[in-house]
Amino acid sequence: KALAVPGVQKLNPYVPGKPISELERELGIENIIKLASNENPLGPSPKAMAAIAPLMSELALYPDGNGFELKKALAEKHGVGMDQITLGNGSNDVLVLLAEAFLSAAHNAIYSQYSFAVYPIAIQAIGATHKMIPALGWDSDSPLGCDLDAMAAAIDAQTRLIFIANPNNPTGSFLTKQALYNFIQQVPEDVIVVLDEAYLEYSPESMRVDGSLWLSEFPNLVVTRTFSKAYGLAGLRVGYSLSHPDIANVINRIRQPFNVNSLALKAAEAAIDDADFIQKSMAVNAKGLELLCDCCDELKLRYVPSKGNFLLVDFAQDAMPIYEHLLHNGIITRPVANYGLPNSLRITIGSENQIQRLINLLPTAVA
Ligand code: PMP
Repeated sequence: KALAVPGVQKLNPYVPGKPISELERELGIENIIKLASNENPLGPSPKAMAAIAPLMSELALYPDGNGFELKKALAEKHGVGMDQITLGNGSNDVLVLLAEAFLSAAHNAIYSQYSFAVYPIAIQAIGATHKMIPALGWDSDSPLGCDLDAMAAAIDAQTRLIFIANPNNPTGSFLTKQALYNFIQQVPEDVIVVLDEAYLEYSPESMRVDGSLWLSEFPNLVVTRTFSKAYGLAGLRVGYSLSHPDIANVINRIRQPFNVNSLALKAAEAAIDDADFIQKSMAVNAKGLELLCDCCDELKLRYVPSKGNFLLVDFAQDAMPIYEHLLHNGIITRPVANYGLPNSLRITIGSENQIQRLINLLPTAVA
């Protein structure tokens, strides 16, 4: 019997939901909507769709393995060198590459409780030790947010990576510029801080923390971004990291030669210019989030104030019957018991109509 290496043997696999068409068949209902994967309800950026249409005749060719045009556009957007950019098959790919490049069984990596599920998977797959630091409580200033002091205190001689998502998934919690800056300043230079900004575009501009502005000050900082959320390109799989060129150079050594496909490269490049679409995505999200928070307030349901495109709602009881009720009425949400939050559901902010549908169902779902 073939045994996987120890890190992999212990892992619980990521369990994706069933396709909507299969669920509709199973449950005998139509028009199921998914508010479970933090996808953009507006669909893809129209500029991205237009850009890839002519590419169909070129699918016999390999993509540009260096992603030259996309890197050029990103370098301009962020005011960094092209040698500071690493492209990935989703930002997930870059997170895994970072673990592969900088961890071994002798090392550990730090992340917060209730943070993105891929961090412990990526760390353990290498056989490295994962140090999950308890999050702040519901009653703190930042409910279920990162305890940065505890994370700093957990750094030891074997620590090589620290993963922080801001805004965080699945909580939607958010770290301020000052708190994050103070934290990074305390981290020794041989420990890499990975600042995962997958949801950055959804945080209001006035309070947005753009870690890329600190790259020249902190050579051990890596910022990751994605086209999966506000740009609406989750299906194409494209994300990237910004870092010191030395870090990008190391990651590049283990990156698969064609890890980003040609449609993704082209669509992402076009989407960068689609400021209107991003504005619209932000506006739709802000409105839907407000409607859902108001509904939770009325129902006296506790939630984490969110700076993302989702809301973590605490039902103060096992959330599974509520999940089932919503599902049987055509709405898929995301249980988060696997994160240690069995009483909560994470609800993606869909279109206004979708959120209205959910709001109409919630009172009976929680009754
Ligand atoms: N980081 C966070 C915090 C996420 O929630 C996600 C997606 N759920 C990702 C990274 C990865 O997204 P992608 O691979 O689609 O870029």
